[in-house]
Amino acid sequence: MDVVQTLCDLVSLPSVNPMGRNVQGDQYLEYRVTEYLERFFSGIGAAFERITVEPRRDNIIARIDGPRSAQNGGPLLMFEVHQDTVPVEGMTIEPWTPLRRDGRIYGRGACDIKGGMASMLAAFKRLAAEPEKIQGSLLMACSVNEEFGFTGATDLVRLWESGESKLLPRMPDAIIVAEPTSLDVVVAHKGVSRWLCRTRGKAVHSSRPELGENAICKMGPILSALDRYQKEIVSELGEHPLVGRPTLSVGVISGGISVNTVPDECVIQLDRRLLPGEDPDAAVRHVHDFLVAEVGAEAFEFEMAYLHAAGLPDDNNAALAEEMCAAAKRQGVASKPIGVLYGTDAAAFGPAGGAVVVFGPGDIGQAHTVDEWVEEAQLSRAADILYEFATHPAGG
Ligand SMILES: [Zn+2]
Repeated sequence: MDVVQTLCDLVSLPSVNPMGRNVQGDQYLEYRVTEYLERFFSGIGAAFERITVEPRRDNIIARIDGPRSAQNGGPLLMFEVHQDTVPVEGMTIEPWTPLRRDGRIYGRGACDIKGGMASMLAAFKRLAAEPEKIQGSLLMACSVNEEFGFTGATDLVRLWESGESKLLPRMPDAIIVAEPTSLDVVVAHKGVSRWLCRTRGKAVHSSRPELGENAICKMGPILSALDRYQKEIVSELGEHPLVGRPTLSVGVISGGISVNTVPDECVIQLDRRLLPGEDPDAAVRHVHDFLVAEVGAEAFEFEMAYLHAAGLPDDNNAALAEEMCAAAKRQGVASKPIGVLYGTDAAAFGPAGGAVVVFGPGDIGQAHTVDEWVEEAQLSRAADILYEFATHPAGG
């Protein structure tokens, strides 16, 4: 199978994530890719299920069984990849007309993560034709909405916990999540919590400010305290050898409706990067308690996290990473275990107890860019490594 052609097919099917915005248009949501995948899986004779997560946003899973399938005591492996891409505003290339040039494929999603999807599909198709080589059962899961909240991956966990699915009746023994890792094996990444902090005042005409209370000015001492927190406190909360220290950042501030009105509300948005294994709620609470001590509980309100994504801890995936690196080595690729700073669907699977690593073709530096591309040679190498992994017994 031509992995390049598959990638070009996928790039030409827009699957833009609305990223929580109220936007309409043909480019949005994943259903075109889902339909392509359905045709693909039925074309190779793999059993599949579609699971609606939101309207026009279906996860699709497909499975092939080796002689000793998961039902017969064999391991259940899962390849997982997201179907969505980030938006295309500001791109300097045609987002959905794949361009092949100088050993690269250009287009939205080429790197993140339709390249990885094409590699997984190539390995999956090859194994569908040689099921006797599969160690256990191989499930391929293509999820929705990775880029804005990981709800597709979260629904896969719900699926295996509910027992509703014939194909995914339990937690997989090993999960490979596709993201652009340049063929290295990611064993740890940070998580993130994002939430709002609000100050309230009293609106009056700006000609009589003494009669009101200025919510923007009230935010001042909070910002100073948070600045101190991010410089002196948060970095002392721990360190991970592969991903470093936790961080806090204030990214957005809004308040006021006109220059001649004393503002009655000011809101900031906070972004706290978590160590792998760090509890997101505890991290937010720590900031809260710090602010209470600095400025008093009356001075502000927290609006609970609108995004919570745990990190990927490396406490139970060392053996899996070793197997992946060994498979890569047999294919002539020197993959190594690494940590990264960005979040992935692995965040949903790790806390559920699964052994998870992240692996795929392409450089994360090329993801989400205005001229997104992936190196062609990495696509087939990734496919070969995934095939190699699925055909060798654990530890073999
Ligand atoms: Zn991605």
